[in-house]
Amino acid sequence: MVKPGKIDVLIIGSGPAGVATSLTLSARGIKHLLVEAQKEPQRKPGEALPPNAKPLFRQLGIDHLMEHPAHLPYYGNQSTWKDAALQTEDFIRDVHGHGFLLDRLLFEEQLHELVQAPFYKGYSLRSVSSHEKGVEAVVESSHDTLHLKAPYIVDATGRKASVCRHLGITPTVLDEWFGLWFYVDGKAPKQIFVESTDKGWWYAAPFGQEQITMMFFTRKESIPAKAAIPGFLHQQFRAATQLSKTFSIPDLNTAEVQIRPSGTACLDQPYGSNWLAVGDAAYAYDPISSFGITSALAGGYYAGHALADTLQGNSDALEVYRYVMENGFIGYLNKLSNL
Ligand SMILES: Cc1cc2nc3c(=O)[nH]c(=O)nc-3n(C[C@H](O)[C@H](O)[C@H](O)COP(=O)(O)OP(=O)(O)OC[C@H]3O[C@@H](n4cnc5c(N)ncnc54)[C@H](O)[C@@H]3O)c2cc1C
Repeated sequence: MVKPGKIDVLIIGSGPAGVATSLTLSARGIKHLLVEAQKEPQRKPGEALPPNAKPLFRQLGIDHLMEHPAHLPYYGNQSTWKDAALQTEDFIRDVHGHGFLLDRLLFEEQLHELVQAPFYKGYSLRSVSSHEKGVEAVVESSHDTLHLKAPYIVDATGRKASVCRHLGITPTVLDEWFGLWFYVDGKAPKQIFVESTDKGWWYAAPFGQEQITMMFFTRKESIPAKAAIPGFLHQQFRAATQLSKTFSIPDLNTAEVQIRPSGTACLDQPYGSNWLAVGDAAYAYDPISSFGITSALAGGYYAGHALADTLQGNSDALEVYRYVMENGFIGYLNKLSNL
């Protein structure tokens, strides 16, 4: 690990948002470091990248990552809502061609390999204090405690928004949806399948050549006690008449099903005098939008430039960052309300 000298920006969290911020700061020659709670990337839910993510990938210089054969082409969507006929959206007419169904763990490993800054893996944020000249963050691993200082700190900790919470800022949760997530063996067409039931909606997509990612999204109050979750999922699967014609799910045990918050949340303002939030920490999207990864990468790109501009004396740059990200989020909310 490269030892940091004087640092201008601390980035906490190294998912897509944290890494995109780091790549942009490196390109702008800004001294920074990354802190990540996990020693190695973990398997996360979320793999669908729509075709319109491609220009952003080129802009960030990460388009070559998609050449790995483990990232599958994504040719379109099939969906059915409330017994309506099955709708097909084929990307064959999309100006950008197909999208990608990521091997998400591999993608995060690939992103980490691109980081050029000092990278503290296995260190969790314990506290943040803000003072006139910047921030001090205390981060801790199993064997070490570090006191890190810089003029700016970036919250890239995902939905936890840990930096913000340490600073007393809490995201507003707009809806309390959760994803019940598991894998089944089998082959599936390289597209996403979505079907609603009375309690929520199913998502199914191929994961590699031999597995299928299955998720059922539902409101908090619909999730039964842990032991009853497999039965609940089987019942909802049978209720999804199209999905159950195409896929099958085996007997599940509770340990195979992971539960992840997946509702919509946002901060009132994504920056303050010496902090900035990016990705899910600032604006968390409902997974049905497939905006999350692209928005986290785009947020990191714009956040990196906004911080570099601010450090070079442009006092409007963070407000412009807010304008761009907030309007993207408002556009998404308008789209949802018109569904
Ligand atoms: C069930 C589900 C399905 C989804 N499906 C899709 C999809 O198909 N397509 C799509 O585009 N998006 C999808 N998403 C959303 C997408 O996964 C997120 O939007 C994306 O991961 C956000 O990236 P991020 O970098 O902001 O946060 P994250 O990817 O969550 O990364 C945050 C990082 O911060 C680290 N961290 C957290 N706390 C601390 C701490 N205190 N100290 C140090 N490090 C810390 C974490 O370990 C993590 O590595 C889905 C989400 C869910 C829940």
